[in-house]
Amino acid sequence: MKYLVPDYYPYFHCKISQCRTACCTGWPVSFSMSEYFRLLGVECSAPIRRKLDIALHLTDHPTKDDYAMLLHSYDGSCPLRLSDGRCGLQADAGESALPAVCRLYPRGIRKGECSCANSCEAVVELLARAEPIRFVSLDLDIDYPSDTRVHFFENAGREMEIRLWLIRFIQDRRFSLGHRLFIMGTALKSMDEALSDKDGKRIEELLNEPYQIAPQPLKGNALPIVQRLFELMRSDSIEHYTGIALDRFSAEKDIGEKAADARLMQAEPNWESWFENLLVNHMFFSQFPFQDRPVSLQDETYALYAVYAMLKFLTVWAGSGDKEQTADAIAALFRLVDHTAFDRYAVPVLHKIGADPRILLTI
Ligand code: SF4
Repeated sequence: MKYLVPDYYPYFHCKISQCRTACCTGWPVSFSMSEYFRLLGVECSAPIRRKLDIALHLTDHPTKDDYAMLLHSYDGSCPLRLSDGRCGLQADAGESALPAVCRLYPRGIRKGECSCANSCEAVVELLARAEPIRFVSLDLDIDYPSDTRVHFFENAGREMEIRLWLIRFIQDRRFSLGHRLFIMGTALKSMDEALSDKDGKRIEELLNEPYQIAPQPLKGNALPIVQRLFELMRSDSIEHYTGIALDRFSAEKDIGEKAADARLMQAEPNWESWFENLLVNHMFFSQFPFQDRPVSLQDETYALYAVYAMLKFLTVWAGSGDKEQTADAIAALFRLVDHTAFDRYAVPVLHKIGADPRILLTI
């Protein structure tokens, strides 16, 4: 079957033992009722059987789709993970024995499209390149049903066109990333109005005529706002890097754009195209702005502004100019952004701070 995928997709491979922060560590693995009963009876060796019997546990409030989980070992890792990084259950009983989350991660399979999450270290490293992401149609043999949407947006039946149109703004390298996000946000506002008015002619114009807007000078200081965002949006997955970044920022304060960019350049000379690719991949993976949650398109835009500002803050003040540390901080941030309702909470937190989200683009 044909799927639309980002061009890195066929080159994605799990790093197994080379992975510094494996997804099998520090992350609860939960699965459905049918998968639970399948794992209770899966054919496997005695040692794996013993580990499964010890680790399999019902969730606190079991539901059909979120029925059971694998309890982690004392070090936070999955008890089925082998010392060489491979999955013991897969090695023993084959890929089909795995719960869907283990079999698919970091892939996101949607109707006619696939991509990988930025929360995976291998994906983050694949995106550290000068070339922009291109979207290609690929024949993929995927025997897994695509996620079904719960929440519907008015999109005039042109959802993918609108999503790729917005991505092109982020890839317009005539402007800085902050300006590209500003222009994209303004264009989306125009599209939102046309969609609400069911104005097919205006939608056509927006999608096919050059979008005229002069980038406005962005004013304000984003750093204290992002500092507050990290203080208020704590999560286990980014705690380590948030701690480093906030401590270092408190010690150094504003080192200035030049020094910040130099630190990023030291970690990755193509840092701006790296960030562009991370934002574009996040937008495609999360189906921006039509995420499967009742969040307005305006708030989705502001949540994306917060992602950009948090990405830059965390990599400057926790990346320390080191490529691996910077990549690990990025993967940790996207554990929060891509695997929680981040887009739903970001704007209420910005309101609580009393911040104009557009100031985030000055970072
Ligand atoms: S985070 Fe990515 S590279 Fe690392 S173990 Fe998981 S899938 Fe593999």
